Amino acid sequence: MDAALARAWVQAIAAAIDEHTDQLTQLDSAIGDADHGANMRRGFSACLDALADTPLETPGDVLVRTGATLISSVGGAAGPLYGSAFRAIGRALAGPDAGAEQVLSALTEGLTAVKRLGAAVPGDKTIVDAYTPAVAAFEQELWEGGGLAAAAAHAAEAAEAGARATTTMQARKGRASYLGPRSVGHQDPGATSTALIFRALAEVTV
Ligand code: ADP
Ligand code: MG
Ligand code: MG
Repeated sequence: MDAALARAWVQAIAAAIDEHTDQLTQLDSAIGDADHGANMRRGFSACLDALADTPLETPGDVLVRTGATLISSVGGAAGPLYGSAFRAIGRALAGPDAGAEQVLSALTEGLTAVKRLGAAVPGDKTIVDAYTPAVAAFEQELWEGGGLAAAAAHAAEAAEAGARATTTMQARKGRASYLGPRSVGHQDPGATSTALIFRALAEVTV
């Protein structure tokens, strides 16, 4: 992954969020405060502005800038969580062109950052429930000899399955946890946006 691919990833995320804003809003209206679509759209649109006309030489520079922009432009739980994730991913991608193994460690650093900040574990009905299987699938694919594109494709599938699996979970973190058992039966908005982020990575790495 070089700086151009990192930029393409952020642009693909912004496009996917744009396309799915209403879906994210509807999911968040069922178990939250109906702002996840708007939060994500504001954040990634600010990222596009922040990246435009700025010469950033490494994928790390692009993704650290993305993370910092998310932190400063998105209120709510998801902004700081995704912001910390992208900053951590970026910090782990220092060179001009990261290989698939380095991207795996970077994605893993991002997941660690989300868990450190939000203290969620798998099963809590959060971003972590899509992100964790995505990283595991990415790693599995590399272990089986696949490259970046195949790993990203498998990660996207796993993230989507992970997001769907949040439907039967009871939320134990974030706003949805206030609903207790009434949070069951709805797919988690944050896990859903995480699946969009991994699908975007798969789209740009083909
Ligand atoms: P808010 O809940 O503050 O309105 P958003 O609606 O933008 O923020 O984001 C909600 C999403 O954030 C949830 O669907 C969930 O996936 C995620 N989330 C909330 N708290 C946590 C946490 N502690 N760890 C990981 N993800 C979390
Ligand atoms: Mg919300
Ligand atoms: Mg909110």
